[in-house]
Amino acid sequence: MEFTRIPNPAPTPNEARKAAIADPGFGTVFTDHMVTVDYDEAKGGWHSAQIGPREPIALDPAASVLHYAQEIFEGMKAFPHAEGGLALFRPEENARRFNSSAQRMAMPEIPEELFLDAVKLAVETDAAWMPPVDGGSLYIRPFMFASEAFLGVRPAKQYKFVVITVSTGNYFKGGINPVKIWVAQGYVRAAPGGTGAAKTGGNYAASLVPQAQAIENGCDQVVFLDAIENKWIEELGGMNLFFVRKDGSVFTPPLTGTILPGITRHSLIEMLQEEGLEVREEPYSIDQWREEAESGELLETLACGTAAVVTPVGTVASPDGEFTIGTGGIGQMAMKMREKLVGIQNGHLEDKHGWVMRV
Ligand SMILES: *Cc1c(COP(=O)(O)O)cnc(C)c1O
Repeated sequence: MEFTRIPNPAPTPNEARKAAIADPGFGTVFTDHMVTVDYDEAKGGWHSAQIGPREPIALDPAASVLHYAQEIFEGMKAFPHAEGGLALFRPEENARRFNSSAQRMAMPEIPEELFLDAVKLAVETDAAWMPPVDGGSLYIRPFMFASEAFLGVRPAKQYKFVVITVSTGNYFKGGINPVKIWVAQGYVRAAPGGTGAAKTGGNYAASLVPQAQAIENGCDQVVFLDAIENKWIEELGGMNLFFVRKDGSVFTPPLTGTILPGITRHSLIEMLQEEGLEVREEPYSIDQWREEAESGELLETLACGTAAVVTPVGTVASPDGEFTIGTGGIGQMAMKMREKLVGIQNGHLEDKHGWVMRV
């Protein structure tokens, strides 16, 4: 599909852009353009692909997304590459996951090629927004929502696919800090048969109250347990978990439909296996977590996702008290995996798996 190009009549002046990207933090320094593609069942599907100025989107007050939450998104990054230009990390995986989220939310799939073309176009157009800071990236947010004005309950017939980009600094200002985790009390993120494996806004809405409780209790993030037995560890609000044990085995919760199949998770499984560790996609319980942390059998717990890459979990807290993982600091494996992954992404390490796509 051809993209119509609409120039931004008032791009951010060079000086203002340079000032904004000098220390962009996360999630507020938006670039000048956005890609949009519309979907209309009556028009035969996807049409009107364009890249134009980033601007508000007019919505009818009855747009389905505002009432019944048909919405999905992806989170990916473009990195400066050692050999020049920019690099995407496994973007085909994002395209595939976007379509499996679409299936679950009764939304139309988007051809993988169209998804990837839209992402590449967004990144190329606003490449000047790459922050000149160590660990900086262009964070890419593709999303789709139901735009049809209709209050009956059924899948909408009109949708909008959008890609915006955000200039993003090092997530770990002042170095990596181990996170403190709160165990969700009385709330779950996802249940069997629900939408936990789809990257949809509603899962995040459901996580906000328990996340606020984590903050009230002096923690950084909340960990969710399974909805049936309230016993098995699932994941954080937006990151998957790995448990590294002294005997060389690593546990990560299996993909049974209630956790999000992270691309970082998938990559880490392969990287940990390359380190000679035995990765087991098997349930790991909250009791086992505490017991093995206290006995010293558990060396590390790693949280992983696109935004924060790999982050060590230092302490776990609940109304029953706290326990510390290892020394409570930054474990060896967390550091090693983080450096390896970042090295592959920015081209400083060999990309044996063909994970990097240059743009
Ligand atoms: C996006 C997301 C992740 C991490 O996925 P990556 O592909 O590694 O970025 C983990 N959990 C949830 C709930 C997510 O939404």
